[in-house]
Amino acid sequence: MELEFIGRVKALNDRQFNQSGKYIIYWMSHSHRANFNHGLEYAIKLSNDYKKPLLVYFLITDKYKYSNARYYKFMLDGVLEAKKSIEERGIKFIIEKSDDIKQRIIEISRSAVALITDKAYLKYYRKLYSDIAKQLDIPFYEVESDVCIPVEIASQKQEVYAFNLRKKIYALLDSYLLKLAPREPKIKSVNLDFGIKELTLNSSLEILDILNIDKSVSLSPFIGGYNQAKRCLKEFIEKKLHKYKEYRSHPELDYQSNLSPYLHFGQISPIEVVLEILSEYKKDENVDSFFNELIVWRELARNFCYYNPNYNHYEGIPDWAKKTLEDHKNDKRDYVYTLEEFENAKTHDEYWNAAQLELLKSGKMHNYMRMYWCKKIIEWTQDPKHAFDIACYLNDKYELDGRDPNGYAGISWCFGTHDRPWKERKIFGKIRYMSASGLEAKFDIKKYVEKVKSL
Ligand SMILES: Cc1cc2nc3c(=O)[nH]c(=O)nc-3n(C[C@H](O)[C@H](O)[C@H](O)COP(=O)(O)OP(=O)(O)OC[C@H]3O[C@@H](n4cnc5c(N)ncnc54)[C@H](O)[C@@H]3O)c2cc1C
Repeated sequence: MELEFIGRVKALNDRQFNQSGKYIIYWMSHSHRANFNHGLEYAIKLSNDYKKPLLVYFLITDKYKYSNARYYKFMLDGVLEAKKSIEERGIKFIIEKSDDIKQRIIEISRSAVALITDKAYLKYYRKLYSDIAKQLDIPFYEVESDVCIPVEIASQKQEVYAFNLRKKIYALLDSYLLKLAPREPKIKSVNLDFGIKELTLNSSLEILDILNIDKSVSLSPFIGGYNQAKRCLKEFIEKKLHKYKEYRSHPELDYQSNLSPYLHFGQISPIEVVLEILSEYKKDENVDSFFNELIVWRELARNFCYYNPNYNHYEGIPDWAKKTLEDHKNDKRDYVYTLEEFENAKTHDEYWNAAQLELLKSGKMHNYMRMYWCKKIIEWTQDPKHAFDIACYLNDKYELDGRDPNGYAGISWCFGTHDRPWKERKIFGKIRYMSASGLEAKFDIKKYVEKVKSL
C-alpha cells in the first residue's frame, strides 16, 4: 500500500471485490472536499486498479436529528464547491435526497465493485457503517483523512490526560504528515449515467428550500467551502498567528483561526493546515500553541469519543468528577434557569448572555467563553446531569462546529474530563470553577460584550 494510506484505510467487512460490478463508490460522508482527501484518492486508486468508473455520492436527508438551516447552508456551500472541483477532474458527483441512509447506500452498492467512505468517530455513523457493512456483498472501507494520526494508531485506549496523548502523537507525527497528491482518474465518469435521480439544484439556498428542516435557526455570516477555509487560513497565518499564544484566550479580540466549522465538515484537511503553516511560517511558540489545539486537543477529542461510548452523556465523565458533583448536588444554587432562559440569553449575568448571544447570532462562540458558558450552566442548574444535556443541546443546535467530537469533549472537560481535581467548593465540588471576576481580571470583558452587541 502507498505510504500516504498506511494506517488510514480500514476494511469494515471481509467481502471480496465484486469483479462484475459496474463502478466504485466513494460515499462522501464526513470529508466534504476535493483537496487532500484520502478517501477520495483511495477511491480513485481503486477505480484505476479495477478499471471501473468512480461515482462520488453525497446523500442529503432532512430526517437527521439536528438538521437545521444554519448548519445545512454552511455544509451545502462546501458540498457544492467540492462537487464542482471533483467534476472538473472528470469524476461524476451525485447529490441525492433520501430519508433512509442505510437502505439507499445498500441499494446503490448492489451494482458496485466496492464502497469507500470517511472515518466516523461518533456513535450514530459508527452504528450505521457497521449495519451497512454486514448487509453488503462487496467490500466496505472507511478511510481516515480528518486527523493527523489515525485514532487507533495514536492510542488503543481512552487517554486520561492531553499530556499522555501528546507524547504518543508527537512520536508519530513526522511519519504521518505526508503530502497527498491528487490522482488522475483513468476513466472519466462525469458524463456516465448511474441511474440515480440526482438533485439538480445549483445553490445551497435552493436546496434548503426543498428540505423539511428546522428553519428557525438563523443563517450564519460564515460561508462554507474549501476556498473560504483557505482564506481563513491565509488570514490567520498573515495576521494572527504571530500573536496566537498571547491572544488566543482574549474573546474581545480576534486571534483564533475560525477554522473549526470548516474542519468539522471536513471542508479542509488538518494535515493540509499543518503543512501550510510549516511551509509559510517559521516555527515558534505560537505555532506550538496552535498545534497543541489543532492536533493534540482536537485528536484527544476523537480519542475520547472513539473509546468512551458515553461521550455525550453525564455518565461518561470520570468517576471522581461524578462523585464530587453528586456530593454537592443538594448545595443551594443562587440562580436556577430553565433551558428556555438559557437559550434566550435571559440570565442575570451580562457576560454569560453575551456569550450565548454570540452563539445565537454568529454560530461560533469564542473558545474562552465556551468554557465559562458551560461552567455556569453547571452552576445554575439543579442537577449536573440535566446541565450536561442542556449544554449538549445548545451546542449542537447553534454552533456551526457542533455535533463534533470537540463539542462533546469540550463539554465533558467542563465536567472534569481530561482535567484534575481542584480545591473543593460549593456546587462544583472538586471540578474546576470559573468566575465573572476571573474574566474581568484576564481580559477586557466589557469590550467583548460591546463586540457581541454590534454583531
Ligand atoms: C464547552 C465547550 C464546547 C465546545 N464545542 C466545540 C464544538 O462543538 N466544536 C468544536 O470544533 N470545538 C468545540 N470546542 C473547542 C473550541 O472551543 C473550538 O474548537 C474553538 O473555539 C474553535 O475556534 P477556532 O477554530 O477559531 O479555534 P483555534 O483557536 O483557531 O484552534 C484551531 C483548531 O484547533 C482545534 N481546537 C481548538 N481548541 C480546541 C479544544 N479545546 N478542543 C479540541 N479542539 C480544539 C479546533 O479544531 C480548532 O478549529 C468547545 C470547547 C468547549 C469548552
